[in-house]
Amino acid sequence: MSDHVPVLLVDDLPANLTALEALLTDENITVFEARSGPEALELLLAHDFALALLDVQMPEMNGFELAELMRGMERTRHVPIIFVTAGTADTQRRFQGYEAGAVDFISKPIEPHGLRSKVRVLCDLHRQRQQIAAQRDELAASAAALREADRAKDRFLAVLAHELRNPVAALMGAVDLLGRPRSADQAGIIHARMERTVSHLARLVEDLLDVSRITEGKVTLKIQRIALSDVLNFAVESSRHHMDAGNHHLTVALPEAPVWFDGDYSRIAQIVANLLGNAAKYTPPGGAIKLSARTIGGEIVIEVADNGMGIPADMQARIFEAFAQVEDHRAYAQGGLGIGLALVHRLVTLHGGSVSVESDGRGRGSVFTVRLVQVEGGD
Ligand code: ADP
Repeated sequence: MSDHVPVLLVDDLPANLTALEALLTDENITVFEARSGPEALELLLAHDFALALLDVQMPEMNGFELAELMRGMERTRHVPIIFVTAGTADTQRRFQGYEAGAVDFISKPIEPHGLRSKVRVLCDLHRQRQQIAAQRDELAASAAALREADRAKDRFLAVLAHELRNPVAALMGAVDLLGRPRSADQAGIIHARMERTVSHLARLVEDLLDVSRITEGKVTLKIQRIALSDVLNFAVESSRHHMDAGNHHLTVALPEAPVWFDGDYSRIAQIVANLLGNAAKYTPPGGAIKLSARTIGGEIVIEVADNGMGIPADMQARIFEAFAQVEDHRAYAQGGLGIGLALVHRLVTLHGGSVSVESDGRGRGSVFTVRLVQVEGGD
């Protein structure tokens, strides 16, 4: 922001305006000139002036009349005024607006040092006022962001407690069954159920830990040269059960020529598997999911597209924040807590890449796009 502040000079005589402006050239100000009261009012409505220097003796509307109009308008009420008077008689004239803002008088011939120091003081005050206003706005914005983060944490704790209750209840039920006489078949069923529940819990805890580890900068990537199709096929295999469960139709379109990049193999697989898993969760059974990859100008572009529930526009900007979930999708989250995409975002960023989402809204499907940096050739 430039620290030049606008100052208004009003005088009906061009020679006076030129003389005044010459006096003020070495100050950090931008001078605006008006030849009459109405012209001055127009400028006053367009700029936030640090002060106005008003010639008292003007035809049409004199300086006092103009000042009174300024005091009557909210926008110009507090603009400090320096009246430029022809002599002592002028200062006897009554001016009614003293209470609203600073008012001062200088008389002709103008004493340059006195005028400059007055102008400097008023301009400094103006700058300070602007700084205070900017700081106030910043504080208000960060207070609002903190309140929102606090609400998100509250929501998260409530969701976490709720989501933990189900697996814990399932485990308690299973433990209870184990305490009773049972056949080998029943034991097998109980075992399988417990295994599923425990691994769900373990995944939740692992994701939670991952998010905080990344936030604290404790995650280091094991970077190696990776063949794109290799890692993408691996991600497809590890999320295959999600697609099968929902009877989804998955198509995979990968570049024919080998494409390489440097990254952490298991983290890249985790990113893509996460997006594929979400596509399956938030697409009704039988829906279509497409994983595609291409290179554009040294960039690898990986897309996971589905024709499922879509994401409303207002949520698209927030969806990569931890714990952000689309309200109506909760029933389909399968115990998810809104951490997956936050992890995806952080992991992609750690790789120097980016991730974004596009959706035409509810029921219109979603496309998640991950961009990574391509490198030439494998080892
Ligand atoms: P989770 O799925 O565990 O809730 P994520 O962080 O993976 O958490 O996703 C956050 C939210 O984004 C989800 O709750 C869901 O509302 C929305 N979402 C993610 N992927 C999709 C998708 N492919 N289609 C529609 N909504 C999605």
